Amino acid sequence: MEGPLVTLRGELRCFACSRYLGDFESHPAAHGGRDVHLLAPEPGVVRERAIRTTQGLRCPRCGARVIAEAVERLAA
Ligand SMILES: [Zn+2]
Repeated sequence: MEGPLVTLRGELRCFACSRYLGDFESHPAAHGGRDVHLLAPEPGVVRERAIRTTQGLRCPRCGARVIAEAVERLAA
């Protein structure tokens, strides 16, 4: 069964300290509903990134859960 190919794009944020932890894209139709790809920051930009662990994405500062806020929905 084929659904429309949709790309979700948005921001990753720490659930506890609200720190911005980079951008993500998700392709639920191609890779499933929990699919998250971290996008590389622009060259020269140094910032904190979410850490990928066996429990999912975590904040590098406080270790709390990272939430994904979808801000764009693109037909791919
Ligand atoms: Zn945090």
